[in-house]
Amino acid sequence: MSDKKTVAVIGAGISGLCAAYWLQKEGYDVQVFEKSGHAGGAIITEREGGFLIDLGPNSTLETSEVLKELVGELGLGSQKIYANEAANKRYIVKNGELMPIPMSALSFLKTGLFSWRAKLRLLQEPFLKPTLGDDIALADFVRHRLGREFLDYAINPFVAGVYAGDPKALSTAAGFPKLYALEKNYGSLIRGALLGARERKKRKEVAKDRARMFSFRDGMQTFTDALAREIKPIAFHTSACGLRQKGGGFELEIEQDGRRQTKEFDMVVCCVPAHALAALLSETAPEATGPLADVRYPPVSVVYMAFKKEDIRRELDGFGFLIPEVENREILGSIWSSTIFPGRAPEGHVAFTSFVGGTRQPDNALLPKGQLEELVLGELKALVGISGKPVFTRIKTWEKAIPQYKVGYKKIQAIFDKLEKQYPGLHFAGNYRRGISVGDSVLSAHETVERIIQGIPGKV
Ligand SMILES: Cc1cc2nc3c(=O)[nH]c(=O)nc-3n(C[C@H](O)[C@H](O)[C@H](O)COP(=O)(O)OP(=O)(O)OC[C@H]3O[C@@H](n4cnc5c(N)ncnc54)[C@H](O)[C@@H]3O)c2cc1C
Repeated sequence: MSDKKTVAVIGAGISGLCAAYWLQKEGYDVQVFEKSGHAGGAIITEREGGFLIDLGPNSTLETSEVLKELVGELGLGSQKIYANEAANKRYIVKNGELMPIPMSALSFLKTGLFSWRAKLRLLQEPFLKPTLGDDIALADFVRHRLGREFLDYAINPFVAGVYAGDPKALSTAAGFPKLYALEKNYGSLIRGALLGARERKKRKEVAKDRARMFSFRDGMQTFTDALAREIKPIAFHTSACGLRQKGGGFELEIEQDGRRQTKEFDMVVCCVPAHALAALLSETAPEATGPLADVRYPPVSVVYMAFKKEDIRRELDGFGFLIPEVENREILGSIWSSTIFPGRAPEGHVAFTSFVGGTRQPDNALLPKGQLEELVLGELKALVGISGKPVFTRIKTWEKAIPQYKVGYKKIQAIFDKLEKQYPGLHFAGNYRRGISVGDSVLSAHETVERIIQGIPGKV
């Protein structure tokens, strides 16, 4: 019998795949269990007739060396593509018009996106007192530091684009820790942004606003497919449905083809969404199930739509647009996929990937496909100017899309540290732990594996 430590990794999203990959590399005997028939979780790329469709993340930011090195180590360097320079231009909808986000001091002074009052208000920011309390909603934080217009026309659409969430509900400290730290450490966002750049350089970190956006020639699934190829075959269509401590390890109950069986492991790394975790931990840690089940994952529909180029009135000269809630429209925003990366639509065509729902309009995300198509088409026609019909449409509804780090979320994050300490050998990694992006999920897995290797339970 092998004397390798056995590890069950539950969930084959990017977090689970990374954890399995690194643990296997360290000599652990790893088995991954995945409920669906797909490796990659939220990362799904499809290709049909010259259209390349990312139904989950369309790209991610190269925010850490860990992510960069992993992509290189998997031999994907030559397939990695950075976003087109044109994608630096982003639009916000104001009064039904697309207005570019100012990218320089001069364009900021000239922009009609913010009033003169709002621009002058920014000058006060370095002199304002810190916000009170250590767990404040992002909306309150931004209203205090930057003013109402910035909240409505910069932060609200940005949060819809990243979290499909609501700044009134999200926690500054848990969901936007770097922003929070600027105020805490420097007393001001503007001062902190200037001084912090020097410290980031020392820590070899890249600020999210500077990090380069990338994907792969054949879409985001290239990444997770490569990871899946490197690890022992995944047990697909296998749901983890129960977990108990046994001896010095764990007994995992799995369901496959309607049959239940148990398997024993020295360690378990849980990489499933918080709602699935709640069910899984009901026997081992019943105290955690309530809070974990309460983590909200609003629904989001991703609507990929391609048109003939000549049917679009305006030039698609940017990343796309986001819509502030105060504009009262029916979608959250739309990215111009064929401008950002090459090969997303055949020659002579353009592709839009639009996002519908989130906490703002959850019912919209759950509309039948025909109605969703109508809704998105109507908004694209009004905002971008489209004369023809789409030549290709693909829709994916994520009923539980992205975890919302709401005010109080620090307590949820603390649950994972506590459980890891309380139950040695039980570990967690995922987009509910240290950020929701693909890059954050990779880092979450990396930190978890580091703790396992070093034998440190709990906090990073
Ligand atoms: C529509 C959408 C757009 C996004 N856009 C971006 C973007 O542009 N850039 C970016 O960086 N990030 C983006 N994200 C976020 C990012 O994609 C995710 O946060 C990240 O991929 C999550 O990875 P994960 O492995 O933690 O979880 P998941 O991908 O959710 O993987 C969890 C896995 O666990 C499996 N599972 C669940 N229960 C069980 C069980 N009981 N037993 C076994 N397996 C189970 C699931 O089937 C799934 O495969 C987006 C997310 C969505 C949904």
